[in-house]
Amino acid sequence: MKLKETWDYVRKFYRMIRKDHPTVLFYVILGGILKGFIPYISLYYSSKILDALLASDVELAKMHIMILLASTFLLSCIERACYQSMSVIAESSYYAVWKQTAHKAYVMEYEEFEKTETMDKIRRAKNGSNGSGGVESQISSSYILVSNYTSIFCSLVFTIQLLIQSRNSSNFIIYTIILLLVFIAFMTMENYMQKRLAKIEVTMQRDNEHMNSLSAYIISSALDVQNGKDIRLYRMKDLINYWYYVFNKKINQVFKKYADTAGTYYGIIAFFMQIFTAFVYIYVGLSVLDGNISIGDVLLYTGSITRLSTTFNEAISGYNQLVYRFEYLGNFEEFINSKNMHYEGTLPIEKRDDYQYEFEFKNVSFKYPNTDNYVLKNIDLKLKVNQRLAIVGQNGAGKTTLIKLLCRLYEPSEGEILLNGINIEKYDYKEYTDIFSVVFQDFKLFPLPLDENIAGSSDVDEDKCLEGLDKVSLKEKVLSWPEKQHTRLYKDLGDGVNISGGEAQKIAIARALYKDAPFVIMDEPTAALDPLAEAEIYENLNQLVNDKTAIFISHRMSSCKFCDEIIVFENGEITQRGTHESLLEEEGLYQQLWNAQAQYYV
Ligand code: ADP
Repeated sequence: MKLKETWDYVRKFYRMIRKDHPTVLFYVILGGILKGFIPYISLYYSSKILDALLASDVELAKMHIMILLASTFLLSCIERACYQSMSVIAESSYYAVWKQTAHKAYVMEYEEFEKTETMDKIRRAKNGSNGSGGVESQISSSYILVSNYTSIFCSLVFTIQLLIQSRNSSNFIIYTIILLLVFIAFMTMENYMQKRLAKIEVTMQRDNEHMNSLSAYIISSALDVQNGKDIRLYRMKDLINYWYYVFNKKINQVFKKYADTAGTYYGIIAFFMQIFTAFVYIYVGLSVLDGNISIGDVLLYTGSITRLSTTFNEAISGYNQLVYRFEYLGNFEEFINSKNMHYEGTLPIEKRDDYQYEFEFKNVSFKYPNTDNYVLKNIDLKLKVNQRLAIVGQNGAGKTTLIKLLCRLYEPSEGEILLNGINIEKYDYKEYTDIFSVVFQDFKLFPLPLDENIAGSSDVDEDKCLEGLDKVSLKEKVLSWPEKQHTRLYKDLGDGVNISGGEAQKIAIARALYKDAPFVIMDEPTAALDPLAEAEIYENLNQLVNDKTAIFISHRMSSCKFCDEIIVFENGEITQRGTHESLLEEEGLYQQLWNAQAQYYV
């Protein structure tokens, strides 16, 4: 990254942070300057104290000690206060970045969200907000960098002072030229090595990024109580350990390669640093012998010049790290600025009490991103108002995909879907999703209070919530829980109740009913329910769904009987459609599926 680019990033970065924290630069600059400056006060007054003691001027020594203690104490207090304020800002900026990342993940197109590249981008954007190179480290790195530049400035001032004082020494020019040449050679070599190291470090971090997340995932899976049963009963401990070992072996290989090179480089730098320090001592020593500087000044000048080389060293590596972290900021920006495709529509949805919403699939075909096979082929389908539609078919036939397209989680590859004659993409996304209550097969409940899970908000209409629970026959049970419907689900976030798969499914149905949307979609809504509960839900479904339009996907063929129309999916195509009675008379998949299930009930 070029200097100008880095500077642009610095400006952009601080503009972003200053929006919420206008004082951030004040703390970074003032604190950084003090941090760099304080050690020179000690060096300066220590040399004065030594000289005073050598001259047996105890009073003067005492005065210097007092000034040294008072000034370092006062300035250190101010520096620490700046540091603490800067740290608090860094911490809360981390949350601001995290919030933006989470928001983006929510508003971006689902189709994009699912892609591996997006997952990588999110991981990098997240990294941009945490310890491995994000806002927090970026602010504290700037702080250290300001302190390093201050140190370099102070060291240069004292070095120039030394040169001025030594100008009358014999061989002054020769010694000074040698010292400067050694210094320049040392710094050039170090700059080169630090840059190479930073590059290797960036490559190492990138190479390990994917493996690090796999390794973190495997650890969290091993420790997830939800996985405990399967891990124990299928004795998967060794398998998990094996994969952990595989991921970590790769991480360690990359890390070891870096550590070997870094170790060698640091060794070389340390070696040359000692040689440079030796030169400094010789130079300063000769100046003392020539009577140009006092013994106390030896402390000041050797300290200053050796600090010059160490802070120069830190400044180079700090700068390189800053540049490296700005690459993360670039990732964050790229992610935040990526497209929100599904949300382009602006048309409002007409609010209708008569639920007159009619959908039409017109010659819709679809393949998932980055795949070649069509999962849906030439689907023509009309969903009439108040209709109950059942979709049946074998696993993988494309039933759920059809629902995902209807809910605008994906766009059709070909053809279009219309709502009341208008392409669904033209509608405002939020308003559009408001007309659906969906229970997906892989619905998710969260370790939050039950009523908030149902309302999808902390603002709950409790009567409506209990009504929904009553409709799925769960009200009585819930009211027996310690905090009734306010009881937390699961134990992840503290004390909560564990629920069975069937109860979870009932809650998911209650959540869909609470939303009270004009269009109800249930994808295998009763798969986890016992036969009695299932029968009860289906008997009540007509009443549950009321005068809404509904789609049911189910493998329980008997549950389709009450639907107005049944469509049969095979390999992404609609191969049969009709009522239960008409389809039973037709030779085809429906008949086969029905007979296959019916034989167990004879
Ligand atoms: P059904 O609901 O009928 O069981 P789905 O609609 O879930 O079937 O899946 C249809 C096909 O699409 C399956 O072959 C499945 O593997 C594939 N599929 C589902 N989701 C994805 C996805 N996110 N990416 C790629 N392929 C997918």
